[in-house]
Amino acid sequence: MSEFQETIETLLREGKTIHIDGEWNQAMSTISLVDPANPPSTTGQLAAGSPVHVDKAYEAASDARADWASTPAQTRSDVLRVAADLLESEAEFASRRLTLDMGKAIRDASAEVARGVAILRYYAGEVLQASGEVYPSVDPSTTLQTIEEPVGTVALITPWNFPVAIPLWKMAPALVFGNTVVWKPASDAGGSAVLLVELLLRAGLPDGVLNLVTGSGGDLSESLTSASALKALSFTGSGGTGMSIQRALSDRTVKLQLELGGKNPAIVLADADLEDAAVQICRGAMFSTGQRCTATSRVFVERPVVDEFTSLLTREVNSLKTGDPLDPETDVGPAASRAQFDTVSEYIELARGEEATFLTGEEQPGDADGLYIKPVVLTGLDPSSRLLTEEIFGPVLCLVPVDGGLDQMVERANDTEFGLSSALFTSNLKNAMRFSRLSESGVVHVNRETAGVEPHVPFGGLKGSSNANREQGTAARRFFTNTKTVYIRTP
Ligand code: NAP
Repeated sequence: MSEFQETIETLLREGKTIHIDGEWNQAMSTISLVDPANPPSTTGQLAAGSPVHVDKAYEAASDARADWASTPAQTRSDVLRVAADLLESEAEFASRRLTLDMGKAIRDASAEVARGVAILRYYAGEVLQASGEVYPSVDPSTTLQTIEEPVGTVALITPWNFPVAIPLWKMAPALVFGNTVVWKPASDAGGSAVLLVELLLRAGLPDGVLNLVTGSGGDLSESLTSASALKALSFTGSGGTGMSIQRALSDRTVKLQLELGGKNPAIVLADADLEDAAVQICRGAMFSTGQRCTATSRVFVERPVVDEFTSLLTREVNSLKTGDPLDPETDVGPAASRAQFDTVSEYIELARGEEATFLTGEEQPGDADGLYIKPVVLTGLDPSSRLLTEEIFGPVLCLVPVDGGLDQMVERANDTEFGLSSALFTSNLKNAMRFSRLSESGVVHVNRETAGVEPHVPFGGLKGSSNANREQGTAARRFFTNTKTVYIRTP
């Protein structure tokens, strides 16, 4: 075991998971990290932080702000580059930790860690790109320009479903553009949070620049949003929590980024490569146990190809291996937590109550040997069924045959409060172009699953899925910097 790995194990064993101003701290009580593959066995303890910890974290971040903001961009870039190398060298350990946190199949966890490395490298380069603009002035003796400045102290609140990628796609731009951070991770992703913070410290981040407070989101909510030092908050999680944060900040000028839920549709036209569509849609719906905000949860199929597509899809879904997430052959690991398992199980019971047809997954293993849910494909649902309108966040896909062409199918697909990601399967370019215009989604895919985003392009949803502030790519630069307009007259 490397010294880095021993440090992480020790911090988690001792519940020393609050990091403020360069020090790891315990709290009065702890939260157990339950292994979703073997509940109730635990893989560590998180310190249950209090509002006092949050206040101290803001104080440290505030004190570190001016020095970090004036640190050369090259130095900040170097920290991310070193962190990327460290994460790459500890990729196996980090992937395992991620799987122990929330049960994602190790193959998906490894891919997520590799993406984390790519995110760090991308922002290490992004901060060295040209910034600001020069404009002509009406006065020839005036130089008129805009410059970008760090926002100040920012809060990051992250979910459990991508314990490495989501924190990094917020943290990397926040830090590299010169902000100091108070981070509250999801309790079900706490082990990975400790790992990421230790990694960034070892990469050279000065004390106070990145502060981690573990503990219950509900208990820390008010202190996280009421701090006077807070200048921007980036949140990813459920719509309910996102709206409560928005309300808490409604009388302040704090910049706010909200990434919320999804109910993502795929449309399969009769002219599609049906075999390829079945593979993509199966992955989009079931990988990561369906616990992705961009997971495919509804598939609308043009009537003439329903039978053929259904048989290809069910064959694909039935070939998935559900089981031990640490087994490299596993496709679908357990639900992330007992709460998540219970929620998805309730939706499966609802489907039985509504006499839906189970194309797959009618027999479920129960929870005796872990929180496993066999992938479910349903059909025969009433359009008003909650299974078609609410985010399930599990391996459950609803198949809906549709009479009529693309426009009618898009209308059905758009008929939801969400608008995160969508997919169309077709071999016709005209359909692809029309879909990209009509789909009410922040991300549109053609002949690709609904999940999957690249770090160098903006990401975010429409309608109830996000607010207007996009993440990733150059959008992250806009969010984590303020623009100042400078007039310099030299007569
Ligand atoms: P969640 O319950 O809203 O929790 C998200 C984060 O907020 C966690 O760190 C949680 O801490 C914290 N939190 C909980 N209550 C809070 C409060 N009152 N004030 C401040 N923070 C609070 O969501 P989740 O169950 O972790 O994540 C699943 C949801 O995230 C799904 O709806 C999914 O679609 C969405 N998601 C969206 C995207 C996207 O990019 N659009 C990406 C991934 C996930 P605790 O863990 O301690 O409760």
